[in-house]
Amino acid sequence: MTEKRIALVTGAARGIGKAIAAQLASEACFVVAADSDAGAGAALLSEFGRDSLSFEKTDVSDEAQVEALFSRIDQNFGKIDVLVNNAGIIRDNLIWNMPTEDFDHVLNLNLRGVWLICRAAAERMKRQNNGRIVNIASRAWLGNRGQTNYSASKAGVIGLTRALALELGRYNVSVNAVAPGLIDTPMTRQLAPEVLEKLIEAQPTRTMGTPDDVAHAVAFLASPETRFITGQTVYVDGGKSIGAGW
Ligand code: NAP
Repeated sequence: MTEKRIALVTGAARGIGKAIAAQLASEACFVVAADSDAGAGAALLSEFGRDSLSFEKTDVSDEAQVEALFSRIDQNFGKIDVLVNNAGIIRDNLIWNMPTEDFDHVLNLNLRGVWLICRAAAERMKRQNNGRIVNIASRAWLGNRGQTNYSASKAGVIGLTRALALELGRYNVSVNAVAPGLIDTPMTRQLAPEVLEKLIEAQPTRTMGTPDDVAHAVAFLASPETRFITGQTVYVDGGKSIGAGW
């Protein structure tokens, strides 16, 4: 196990995070799965096996919990090779209907949480002179009706990614973002069926993506071979971000 690369994946209990965990585990990583859903730990462990994964109940927006998580990673592995900041939430509404708490909650997890984890990982990866950070943003950073909070948080993630890439480049640590479009997960299944149908119709591919589509892009950016790609945003959105003509 010690020869494996150690990969921390947040929000790994389901959806895109779980697919990323599976992809990295299949590519000789030991995955530390961090999620606020404590109930998911046992199922993940029995599915992946203790040789491939450990589970850490963590709320990534809580500074003390993030520090405790990294202390356990230090103790158990003494290194962190890959960080995938995947945990994220939506609280959609038109701005005139959006309570301030829904703005704060989304920014607190989607942006501040990513920053907290990046800070803890950056310190260690800089010391190691090695690391790969992949932040899950969203095509919605370009703007989506009803998502002033979410779009702002994901735009923030892309800015953070670019700035951190500049700070860590000289330490052999790459920092990139993956911006998924419409992906079939529990998050998108919250949408009303008629809304989902319209969104699929507006896709150049006329389909949703799958969590595996995102996981492959993440695994590419997390691999040792992609040392020279940093500060970039890779869209996994069936071409939706092209925009023109739709
Ligand atoms: P999902 O199905 O809702 O899964 C998110 C996971 O994150 C859940 O297991 C959730 O646990 C966990 N989580 C929530 N809050 C957390 C916290 N404070 N600390 C730790 N874990 C937490 O979401 P998804 O669709 O897979 O999305 C994953 C990422 O991709 C998100 O960043 C999202 O913004 C982004 N994304 C998704 C889509 C899409 O179409 N699905 C498109 C673009 C971008 P709980 O069960 O406890 O809430």
